[in-house]
Amino acid sequence: MFKYLLLGVLSAAALTAAVPASAPVYGLVLHGGAGVIRPETLPPGQEAQYRAKLQEALDAGYAVLEGGGSSVEAVIAVITILEDSPLFNAGKGAVFNADGICELDASIMDGRNLAAGAIAGVQHVRNPILLARAVMEKSEHVMLTGAGAEAFAKQQGFELVPNEYFHTELRRQQLEKVRKRETTPAKASAAILRPTDEKHGTVGCVALDRAGNLAAGTSTGGMTNKKFGRVGDSPIIGAGTYASNATCAISATGWGEYFIRLGVARDIAAQMEYRGTPLAEAAAATIAKVGQLGGDGGVICLDRAGNIAMPFNTVGMYRAFRLSNGETAVKIGR
Ligand code: ASP
Repeated sequence: MFKYLLLGVLSAAALTAAVPASAPVYGLVLHGGAGVIRPETLPPGQEAQYRAKLQEALDAGYAVLEGGGSSVEAVIAVITILEDSPLFNAGKGAVFNADGICELDASIMDGRNLAAGAIAGVQHVRNPILLARAVMEKSEHVMLTGAGAEAFAKQQGFELVPNEYFHTELRRQQLEKVRKRETTPAKASAAILRPTDEKHGTVGCVALDRAGNLAAGTSTGGMTNKKFGRVGDSPIIGAGTYASNATCAISATGWGEYFIRLGVARDIAAQMEYRGTPLAEAAAATIAKVGQLGGDGGVICLDRAGNIAMPFNTVGMYRAFRLSNGETAVKIGR
């Protein structure tokens, strides 16, 4: 009898241990790009500016979730704020392509039903993430590109802006720097691909709402000096963005060519789905593969139990999270 009582007490304790009181019910993680980012080498005052904008976006997304809004709505709230800020390589402040034009890519995915929307190479849509959402919700397609995406935007009543709206002096200087390198023979091959001393600033968000639904979104200007209609991983479902309630939500940032080749976002989810690998382990293994292949960058991840992971193999990554159990942070370096 005593033995059974003891067993009862033990299994009750085991149950309590399995569901810690502090497990978050809802929450979100965001990023503002990875790269050679060291808080101590940012120009004076800039670290504070970045932290304030990341905090503003985090609070806006959290307020949506706290008020019972969906994870898709939270992702939209976060990403539109970061797109509107010239600090990040998305929307206003996006990097220039080789022709001196900003070409924007974005995607969003709803983990509830695997619905997804993406746009690539648009030049006149103020908030690309809103157009990606419209593709997901109002078209029968998943991905629209260039002029076709903009025709769809017009049809949906989006106000189009001149490309100059996105331009900033900093991105102009970065383009000049890369162009110069491209004409220096010893450095030419590196400049065609990613200049490694550059800061990036793609933005992304993953969220879990009160109803247990996950969502992910990513928005970017791509890479400085990109040519020939180059598209990176950010608008590619399964590479830069993925969400499924069965596993996790992921948004990536980094050298897009490598993230596409490894199908990074889906690779992390697949490890959880097929092998039961814990989120942090799966994310770290995939980022290690990116490094082994010669790429760099990072991911933000959130699973359906509220676990988070934010691995990166660059010097830094702008990132922040806030969970309903009170855990929160805004980080830049390691
Ligand atoms: N992943 C983006 C791209 O390749 C760039 C970045 O995240 O910095 O387009």
